[in-house]
Amino acid sequence: MAKISINIATGSLQQAEMIVGIDLGTTNSLVAIIHPESKQPTALKEFDSSSLVPSVVHFDALGNAEVGELAKNYLESDPGNTIFSAKRLMGKSFNDLKSNANFFTYKVIDDDADRLVKVQVGNQFYSPIELSSFILKELKNRAEHILKTPVSKAVITVPAYFNDAQRQATRDAGKLAGLDVLRIVNEPTAASLAYGIGLNKDEEKTIAVYDLGGGTFDISILRIAGGIFEVLSTNGDTYLGGDDLDRALMEFWLNQIGIPFHEIKNDKSALQSLRLLAEEAKKTLSSSNSFEGVWNDNRVTITVDEFNSIITPLVNRTIDSCSKALADAGLSVDQIDAVIMVGGSTRVPLVKSSIGAFFKQTVNDSVNPDEVVALGAAIQADILAGNNKDFLLLDITPLSLGIETMGGLMDVLIPRNAKIPNKAGRQYTTQKDGQGSMRISVFQGERDLVQHNRKLAEFNFTGIPGMPAGMPKVEVSFLINADGILSVTAKELRSGVEQSIEVKPQYGLTDEEVEAMLMDSITHAKEDMVTRALVEARTEGEQILSVTEKFIAKNTSLLTKEELIATASAMQNLQMALTMDDKNLIQTKIEELNEISRPFAERAMDAAVGGALKGKQV
Ligand code: AMP
Repeated sequence: MAKISINIATGSLQQAEMIVGIDLGTTNSLVAIIHPESKQPTALKEFDSSSLVPSVVHFDALGNAEVGELAKNYLESDPGNTIFSAKRLMGKSFNDLKSNANFFTYKVIDDDADRLVKVQVGNQFYSPIELSSFILKELKNRAEHILKTPVSKAVITVPAYFNDAQRQATRDAGKLAGLDVLRIVNEPTAASLAYGIGLNKDEEKTIAVYDLGGGTFDISILRIAGGIFEVLSTNGDTYLGGDDLDRALMEFWLNQIGIPFHEIKNDKSALQSLRLLAEEAKKTLSSSNSFEGVWNDNRVTITVDEFNSIITPLVNRTIDSCSKALADAGLSVDQIDAVIMVGGSTRVPLVKSSIGAFFKQTVNDSVNPDEVVALGAAIQADILAGNNKDFLLLDITPLSLGIETMGGLMDVLIPRNAKIPNKAGRQYTTQKDGQGSMRISVFQGERDLVQHNRKLAEFNFTGIPGMPAGMPKVEVSFLINADGILSVTAKELRSGVEQSIEVKPQYGLTDEEVEAMLMDSITHAKEDMVTRALVEARTEGEQILSVTEKFIAKNTSLLTKEELIATASAMQNLQMALTMDDKNLIQTKIEELNEISRPFAERAMDAAVGGALKGKQV
């Protein structure tokens, strides 16, 4: 039975456990709930301040952390100790970031380029998880202060393209902040929930969620049917957003007053005031036709037409991404039922009109674009609280997941684009008599040989009881939970020995890398098929040789002299064929050996040999 308590301050009835929805953003974060009385999703704010908490952490000389608006004030004056965009670091190694290393004004540790990054502040080191946990802690405190009740459970949103490592990192940040993270939800899924799309189980819709924030852009195509949300494709640019519009405007004005950029590039305070003026102008131009201001004693002006013309190239880049996302989803513009606007920069009229024109429809912009994701997260939290039982949120795997089998082949257990949560299993067996352990290597990618894919994890499955080769039945199961986190279990079915691991990859993949891996699999498809066929033929040949050899050693007395000679020669021929890169030759030699051995094998087939011929070997 659910507990009901009374809020002493307001006299209202409250659920004992309030589950909050959190949008942990690159630039701003916020927390929302379903209002206990109005039942409407509501962003939490203190009195008439903003609901947005800047995702900025400042460390003072003593190492005390300050978060939000206060910390943001230090962005220009104390850049080395003021951490912004920590979300961009989640689940990343320095190698992942190095092409954008200049973006960060604070010290991102590059000692070991392959390990997860840390940030150095004074002589302290912080992981992106810790940095995000400071922001989450601030949101938790804020919610507790406003709601006057402890908050310990949350739903947190992440971009649809976040991989396992990044989702796990977000979950860990929540834990560190004292939150039990009930669910990680994709931002576009949350946004569509906030528009009420998907709340009716009979509804079937394909929607585009266009998210242009302060520093990032992404577009996601979702298919919603029967209360299930499926991400069909995502695209975007992780370094494109409102900040770029501000920069375009700064350049325009420097041109207007005839100051070359290099003359003021070291004057931090002049640049800072110009940037603030540019942002103010940009916001003004979202509802007026012109802007006029003064900067360093210079009059600066801009009309909406001028502004539109300088930002058109940036808007066009987002439209290119929309085209690509549609193509990846295999859809045309006419198949999109609704377009949803997310992120503060979608307030720019040219953005709305251009995106509407591209999708040939009026865009949905009635929900505050800064709050829409958090509001959707609150709706999801409410569903999880049991107030709305009919829903299940579904995402898909960006790349195939599988394990390495004999000859370095990728054996896919869960294919790309499979729905999440998901479960798959397959049986494998041993290669050698008495083999007590088996190496399970988990890979992600589309190529046939694991060496071209990405290794996610590896473990040694030990404790297989001694049995002849081919006898043990090792069931390897993959389970991806609703947050997209994979656990792998190996179980020997005859003995019940079991072992499992949760896959937390060392560092993440960027959107571009996922795309590159997919492209690679397409360009190499033909040669991969040839390689796979060859490796499979070789593996089969090796198995047959070893089985035949064992068989003959055991059953020499059952064979005639002619049979022995013919078998030895066929084995030798197969052995020779295995050294060559000719799949057909190997297959012919396998056939020939089979032809010769079939009569006496039939005579004396025993269970062990029968077993050895069945099942794949890891
Ligand atoms: P977000 O990351 O979603 O919080 O988006 C913040 C971005 O939205 C910043 O670049 C802001 O300058 C921009 N923004 C906020 N309000 C407006 C507005 N009225 N017109 C244009 N851009 C805006």
